Amino acid sequence: MSETTTFSGNRGLQIEEKLIFEMGNEGCSGVDLPEPGPVDLDRMGGLAKRGSSGLPDLSEPQVVRHYTRLSQKNYGIDTGFYPLGSCTMKHNPRLSEKVARLPGLADLHPLQPQKTVQGALEVMDSLAHWLKELTGMPAVAMSPAAGAHGEWCGLMAIRTAHEEKGEGHRRRVLVPESAHGTNPASAAMCGFTVDPIPAKENGRVDLDALKAKLGPDVAGLMLTNPNTCGLFESEIIEIAAAIHGAGGYFYCDGANFNAIVGRVKIADLGIDCMHINLHKTFATPHGGGGPGAGPTVLSAALAPFAPVPYVVHGKGGFELVEDAREGAKPFGRVKGFHGQFGVFVRALAYIASMGADGLRQASSDAVLNANYLQARLGDMLTPSFDGPCMHEALFDDRFLKDTGVTTLDFAKALIDEGYHPMTMYFPLVVHGALLMEPTETESKEAIDQFIDVVRSLALRAKAGAADEFKASPRFTPRRRLDETLAARTPVLRWKA
Ligand SMILES: *Cc1c(COP(=O)(O)O)cnc(C)c1O
Repeated sequence: MSETTTFSGNRGLQIEEKLIFEMGNEGCSGVDLPEPGPVDLDRMGGLAKRGSSGLPDLSEPQVVRHYTRLSQKNYGIDTGFYPLGSCTMKHNPRLSEKVARLPGLADLHPLQPQKTVQGALEVMDSLAHWLKELTGMPAVAMSPAAGAHGEWCGLMAIRTAHEEKGEGHRRRVLVPESAHGTNPASAAMCGFTVDPIPAKENGRVDLDALKAKLGPDVAGLMLTNPNTCGLFESEIIEIAAAIHGAGGYFYCDGANFNAIVGRVKIADLGIDCMHINLHKTFATPHGGGGPGAGPTVLSAALAPFAPVPYVVHGKGGFELVEDAREGAKPFGRVKGFHGQFGVFVRALAYIASMGADGLRQASSDAVLNANYLQARLGDMLTPSFDGPCMHEALFDDRFLKDTGVTTLDFAKALIDEGYHPMTMYFPLVVHGALLMEPTETESKEAIDQFIDVVRSLALRAKAGAADEFKASPRFTPRRRLDETLAARTPVLRWKA
């Protein structure tokens, strides 16, 4: 037996878990039911099944242990530092969770009569108010279920606005090369063609290249600000003027809103629409921990095309508008019911508990933490761009040159050290990207510890420990998986 194997296959108190289908004994059950009598009344339309259901035969304690142990294999923001760039993995306050679990909010049914859910409609209306206030925009579509869904919603509003003006031929959307993959995907889903714009040496959009791409078939521009290199697009006013001058609309990917909340009203930048990832900026569990929500704020030009439903103040209280009203030409609806209500509750609780001063402080601290990280790692790793960053710090793999260690190896070694890896190989505009976002909720102690670990790994890589890196992760239940094979040929059914 080697140092890392045991007779049982378990390691310490980490149990080597079987699949649930590999466990149990035939006939074993968690409940004690009487034998069914003869079935004289067939309520199943002749579809009643006899014999085994094919489900695992397990006792209650076996089931409880299995799922509890599986849950312990999960790594989340509640277990440790999660520096995943572009994802804003910040702490989810327990207060927001408590509020979302109040029976009066958690037990509602979306088909309840409106007069019985006035409080819930007020929650949606208040959150909409604060999102408009924080962005300076006049309207918001609340129902998109995630950031990517919000992109699609905003682009549908843009498409409808062009069609209404008799300019349905505008079908080209400009997207910077550094964009998140969802941007071109959403544009393609809306029937647009995607035209990439290069970045300049300093990591920002090349304004001249953008201007050269403008033309009568351009529907709009999708830009992330701060962008995915963690940099503020300093020419954003000129960019907005250029796209508007060519008759297009300006979509902003708001996934990085956490860097500017309370400091910049995006309406002042000439933006026509932007999704807000409530699960990132406004601290609701995400990334396998729960659903997201992507409300999309809209300028006056796009507001009439906002999808239904939305909440208005009517004579008798709050009303949910489900059909087109005078002056509005909704492009349709994007989701069943009204949006991710549980996420709305958490986001509103977060906004209310932080207050205006707290939100502003949070974005400042997020930027400070990222700059601290960048400054303390700058001599050991290779920062991709000069100068300060916004809420995330971008490094590339030049510091690993000639070490035999890749960005992927480096990330796997971080897992052995007890950290969820940073974002790897994104954005695509730098080689072997390592994108780190500490967020405002990490303490200086936690960030310092992480910095020490990253520095020690960089030193080990430079000292020629490539073999050690290639063998990582060594302490996880599974080592390196063939992720390509798993994605291309997923095994989705259990076969005995
Ligand atoms: C997270 C993210 C998105 C997509 O948001 P989802 O809520 O995951 O759909 C889009 N753009 C950027 C820059 C992001 O970081």
